[in-house]
Amino acid sequence: MIRDEFTVIAGRALRLHQGAESLEVRGVRPSPVGPIVDWKAPLLSPDRQRRPLPGGGHVLGAPAGPDLLAVLVRYQACRWRHGPPHAPSTWAEDLARAHPKIFPFPPASHAGWSWLWEAGAELITEHGIPRGFKTVDTKEKFGSLRWYTEAKGDDRHADNVISCIDHISNFVCEYCGAPGLLRRGSWVKCMCDAHAQGRKPFREGEA
Ligand SMILES: [Zn+2]
Repeated sequence: MIRDEFTVIAGRALRLHQGAESLEVRGVRPSPVGPIVDWKAPLLSPDRQRRPLPGGGHVLGAPAGPDLLAVLVRYQACRWRHGPPHAPSTWAEDLARAHPKIFPFPPASHAGWSWLWEAGAELITEHGIPRGFKTVDTKEKFGSLRWYTEAKGDDRHADNVISCIDHISNFVCEYCGAPGLLRRGSWVKCMCDAHAQGRKPFREGEA
């Protein structure tokens, strides 16, 4: 299950990343933070995507593939840490209590994204919480998670982790955390097949 979820979400999240076809899952091993997916991707570009602009220059695209995979590995470790995934109804309050410096208030989303918030909080904490860092807003917009923060110190690492979380949320069902896709409807939503109830993928050719 863990391996299958990783493969599906990674395949979608790295769809436009150079060298993503070289991704190979080597196994899943236990660790103190939960089950860890071991992967290798020898051809995967280590750089953040850059999209050229017609008049010259570029805009920054999705975070670098290896960074995305590192965050996805922790997402799954959080999700499967205590056995089959289950988010208690108090998950948001629990997260704010466990990570008060990062979440002064409980993050706002459906339960499927609970492990994304948790993975982000853990990775930021382990690297060292930037000086004056705090979350100022959390929400869902256009089917993906939005996490707004402020900091007084160097927050480049935290910023990159959050960019990875935002990107991965486009491929994680906001209701249950299984692999999902953005779906059409009165609002764009990220949902797995079970929660989509027939809603068509937002982008052509995705299934
Ligand atoms: Zn779902």
